[in-house]
Amino acid sequence: MISHSSFSLQPYNTFGIEAHCYRFIELQQRDDVALWASMQQQSDKPFFLLGGGSNVVFLPWIDKSVVKVSLHGIELLKEDDEHVWIQAAAGENWSDFVDFCVQKGWGGLENLTGIPGTVGASPVQNVGAYGVEAKDAIESVECFGIASGKWKNVLNSECQFSYRDSIFKQALKNQVIITSVTFRLDKNPSLNLSYGGIQQQLKKEGILQPTIKDVSRAVKTLRNEKLPDPAIIGSAGSFFKNPVVAVDKYISLKNHYPDMVAFPVGEDYKLAAGWLIEQCGWKGKQIGKVGVYPKQALVLINLGSCTGNDVKQLALAIQQSVQEKFDVKLETEALFIE
Ligand SMILES: Cc1cc2nc3c(=O)[nH]c(=O)nc-3n(C[C@H](O)[C@H](O)[C@H](O)COP(=O)(O)OP(=O)(O)OC[C@H]3O[C@@H](n4cnc5c(N)ncnc54)[C@H](O)[C@@H]3O)c2cc1C
Repeated sequence: MISHSSFSLQPYNTFGIEAHCYRFIELQQRDDVALWASMQQQSDKPFFLLGGGSNVVFLPWIDKSVVKVSLHGIELLKEDDEHVWIQAAAGENWSDFVDFCVQKGWGGLENLTGIPGTVGASPVQNVGAYGVEAKDAIESVECFGIASGKWKNVLNSECQFSYRDSIFKQALKNQVIITSVTFRLDKNPSLNLSYGGIQQQLKKEGILQPTIKDVSRAVKTLRNEKLPDPAIIGSAGSFFKNPVVAVDKYISLKNHYPDMVAFPVGEDYKLAAGWLIEQCGWKGKQIGKVGVYPKQALVLINLGSCTGNDVKQLALAIQQSVQEKFDVKLETEALFIE
């Protein structure tokens, strides 16, 4: 276990924001987890569990212990004729893990390639892209109870997964550390090509009978066209969730705005937050050192050395204008940490 006080978090968030925290602790081995939890039980300082820092906006001073989970290892637990059960430690890089599974020919995660961050965070907001969510492949999530000092396996059916949400953002928030995730993947994969231009991309490449490798490559190409690479432009990816509205609200908006982009979800409709933000004139706008990505209005970007407060102000201004124009509440997907 590594521990530093008053530590700079700039290298630990994809927004590239400079921020300091009371203490930075890195858990590198399984034994560190129990050791830190017992120390935390004696401390009155709050803590924040950090993965890859790709879904967070740090405010300048974080009066907390920031605890980075850096456990590593991938293990094939079992297999039968149809499936493999593979366990990855929380600190493994998510996209590298997906690519490892794709190379092995195990299907289920290929649409989720290219999402920054760690395996341990994937169940927290039930990461999703191109018609697939982590919940579709997660078998169970291994956790350590910070107060109980006990290991626990939370089954998929207990995770309360929904759109960008799970029990780990709700009842188990700050109660457990996720230490590894087990996925059940398909040896004879069926492809999900229904979403976001994957089929057009494959067609462009002249691929008629795609494999999971082709799908993952197509997804990467599509993502690179739309999203900034955090190594070049700081961001937290999609900054806002796509709001879900009741059918009456959807119909009234659609009457006013026939071009509005929306998808049915059960009896409700999910509106494309990027479209709403673009209609309010924000796409490509820059306010000081922070801006809205010119290729995708859902993404806020660091134009140099923005602070968490700059991002907060811009996010608030965007939320206000969407509320005024459409009477729709935009919730942030990225988390402000202070
Ligand atoms: C360019 C870009 C593109 C993106 N595209 C997508 C996308 O397509 N789909 C999508 O869903 N997301 C996307 N994201 C958001 C982000 O990548 C995901 O939310 C990712 O899962 C966050 O992982 P992380 O390890 O960086 O988590 P962090 O940002 O470090 O933490 C996120 C949350 O998880 C908790 N957490 C992290 N590790 C643990 C642990 N071991 N135990 C308990 N809690 C933990 C944290 O406390 C926090 O609440 C994108 C982000 C960027 C920058």
